[in-house]
Amino acid sequence: MTITRRDFLSASTALALTPALGTGAWGAPLPREADIVVIGAGAAGIAAARRILAANRKVIVIEATGEVGGRCLTDTATFDVPFDRGARWMHNPDANPMMRLARSSGLDVYPAPLGRKIRVGRRFARTGETEEFLSALVRANHAIDVASRGKVDVSCASVLPKDLGDWAGTAEFVLGANATGKDLKDLSAVDKVHALERNAAIACRQGLGTLIAKLSEQVPLALSTPASRVAWSGRDVTVETPAGKIAARAAIVTVSSNVLAAGNIKFTPEIPKRQLDAAARLNLGSYDRIVLQLPGNPLGLVRDDIVIEQSNSTRTALLFANMGPSSLCSIDVAGSFGRDLSSQGEPAMVAFAVEWLTKLFGSEWAAAVEKSSATRWNAAPFVQGAMSVAAPGAQPSRKVLTEPIGCMFLAGEATHETLWGTVDGAWESGERAAEAALQKIGALTDESAAAPVAKPRRRVAPARSAMPGAPAN
Ligand SMILES: Cc1cc2nc3c(=O)[nH]c(=O)nc-3n(C[C@H](O)[C@H](O)[C@H](O)COP(=O)(O)OP(=O)(O)OC[C@H]3O[C@@H](n4cnc5c(N)ncnc54)[C@H](O)[C@@H]3O)c2cc1C
Repeated sequence: MTITRRDFLSASTALALTPALGTGAWGAPLPREADIVVIGAGAAGIAAARRILAANRKVIVIEATGEVGGRCLTDTATFDVPFDRGARWMHNPDANPMMRLARSSGLDVYPAPLGRKIRVGRRFARTGETEEFLSALVRANHAIDVASRGKVDVSCASVLPKDLGDWAGTAEFVLGANATGKDLKDLSAVDKVHALERNAAIACRQGLGTLIAKLSEQVPLALSTPASRVAWSGRDVTVETPAGKIAARAAIVTVSSNVLAAGNIKFTPEIPKRQLDAAARLNLGSYDRIVLQLPGNPLGLVRDDIVIEQSNSTRTALLFANMGPSSLCSIDVAGSFGRDLSSQGEPAMVAFAVEWLTKLFGSEWAAAVEKSSATRWNAAPFVQGAMSVAAPGAQPSRKVLTEPIGCMFLAGEATHETLWGTVDGAWESGERAAEAALQKIGALTDESAAAPVAKPRRRVAPARSAMPGAPAN
């Protein structure tokens, strides 16, 4: 039985890499000054820069790696079709500020598949079993929702009903590792319930990373230019890079919470402990893709089939088969198991994918593997993980990260209270930080303030499924 988006929603009571594409990469020497410097060319950084350009102010985005996109990165080199190494879905098309831009980008944007299948050993779950699973999700979500209203925040795992039976492990995977990159034991009930429903999933045929790169076309960018030190005050800021210093009146820092907490960028004076602690408490979960090229559809699945398994351990995964359509199948691993596995390197990851698929589909298909690739986001030095997740008690840290630090403003998915862990959350946070920075430098005239900026979306109803119906990742 295939689980549809409707099933998941009703089941939930609580709730060459990226092509350069003319990315505006800085050909000239690094500018010595700008109105605002943006650090990081992920979704948040590009959104911030576009907002600053719309206000007719001088901006430069400096990016440590050689690519635009950060955690939105489309790989066009490894296989003969593009695949997203990071984010692949956009959510909430009616409210998502990126959707309008995506639709007018000239790229091919389409609704992603919504069905899910569950494997029980070597067969698909029967209707009754699927209903049992959905019921387990209902009860798990309800328990987390109730717990989130308590006086003290707790981990989601600590409040799960004890009678989820054979579906406990699967519910934990779907609501925890697969949706957020962390096991439910490490996830705050309040943060989870604050998360806006991630409904409808929209993909870009050329890749979501390609879309971000496309949206950066007009943005002045300096690639392969890591910020090493930022000297800041209430009035101005100087950003040091190996290519020179840039003086500006404000800076927007969009690096991940792990990069910020790791102290990779030195700040003079130090940024307040309050913000550093907040970043550390919102550290990144683990989410990686192991991609196998399987020509001839040896698994016998349809295009864009998504399969999970009934599992009683964290050693499990999500299969996204025949992506696109293509012969690529991704096996996504996440949470504590995914972290351990990815630390062992790509060969171990591919070996797990083969072992896991063999458990579910027999071994005949394995000879068909033509090529493989795996992401290792925890080892990416300028990202260091997948998406920010609040530990119990840490949900208020998201707001702390939005507080101005002199003339510096933090942005990025971790700073979004309801859309954390998403591309649209990162995008909105970048726009919001740009507004704040423009205001700080007195650059917001009535006219420029009228430029379209998405209003921050707040949670208006209890969040529903944190995962498919609309796939989270
Ligand atoms: C495998 C995976 C799957 C995902 N799936 C989805 C999904 O389907 N849908 C969804 O909405 N979200 C998904 N996400 C989450 C989403 O990718 C992120 O929330 C979002 O892309 C974060 O954007 P950002 O701009 O906040 O940060 P980043 O993308 O991390 O951008 C920060 C940038 O700063 C740069 N940087 C770091 N240090 C420096 C420095 N010293 N100097 C200059 N630059 C620096 C980095 O290189 C990076 O480019 C997924 C994430 C992963 C890893």
